[in-house]
Amino acid sequence: MTEIADGITLIDTLLGGVPGRTTGYLVTGDRPAFVDPGPQTSAEHVVTALRGAGLGPDDLAWIVLTHIHLDHCGGAGELAAAFPGATVVVHERGVRHMVDPARLVSASHVVYAEHAPMYGGMSPVPEARVVAAPDGFRVDLGGGRALEMIATPGHARHHMSVLDPATGTVIAGDAVGAHLAGGGLYPTVPPADVDIPAGRASLARIRDWSPTVVSASHFGPVGDPQAAIAVADEQLAVMGEAALRGWLAGGGRDAIEREIERSLPLERAVGSPESAEEWRRLAWYQNNFDGLARWAESASAPPPDAA
Ligand SMILES: [Zn+2]
Repeated sequence: MTEIADGITLIDTLLGGVPGRTTGYLVTGDRPAFVDPGPQTSAEHVVTALRGAGLGPDDLAWIVLTHIHLDHCGGAGELAAAFPGATVVVHERGVRHMVDPARLVSASHVVYAEHAPMYGGMSPVPEARVVAAPDGFRVDLGGGRALEMIATPGHARHHMSVLDPATGTVIAGDAVGAHLAGGGLYPTVPPADVDIPAGRASLARIRDWSPTVVSASHFGPVGDPQAAIAVADEQLAVMGEAALRGWLAGGGRDAIEREIERSLPLERAVGSPESAEEWRRLAWYQNNFDGLARWAESASAPPPDAA
């Protein structure tokens, strides 16, 4: 547990039991919130960590989700059961999947393939305890403090970032990419609904908020926020161009992979062999090409009314 800003504590949610991969955040207050419970396989660990932080069963008011990928939301059902007073807050596209996660879980497991057991599934959350967060939704922490959720699509359509005006902190989910094992940032653009221009617009929105701290789900604060956002934006731009080049050349996913290895090589971008190894071990690097192929196909399709 590390305090990244006044009243915001990073709690490792241990994807695959390994530290440094996925993080949640406890935001203290009269009505405390926990952002991103992590995978279902870590739910017991997270509940224990929250109990250790002094939260009794009735003390957690909010479970906030940056988006509905299983490494972020999978433990929401177990966490909601352990803290029966907590309300789950999620992008409006995510609500039905919290109540009935079967389709979300099966679609996610197709993407994760042999890694699916590391993520686990998801238990449903009672419908009465799920709230849809529109852009600008305020999570009331009591005592005059509130978090603000803003829509930051790009990594996924249902992605939101969580702002804490009291400290200038942005809990950015995957909007700025990920930095693993001490390496530099690199974009995470997995299936199924990556949108490069939307991701760049989301970065501009975060930048214009002038944060003092930006923290990535994978893993933790990114250093100087403006510099990190500039890097993330440049990477998305290069990646998008490379993906379209590969796709339009007719080479499909493999051509996209070749173009990206040329334009934004993983090892050089993250600057650390250990970090690159972690990207490949988790298959997040390989998943990027599948996500980009889907995006490039839709982005290069003629508009519906074209002749
Ligand atoms: Zn993620």
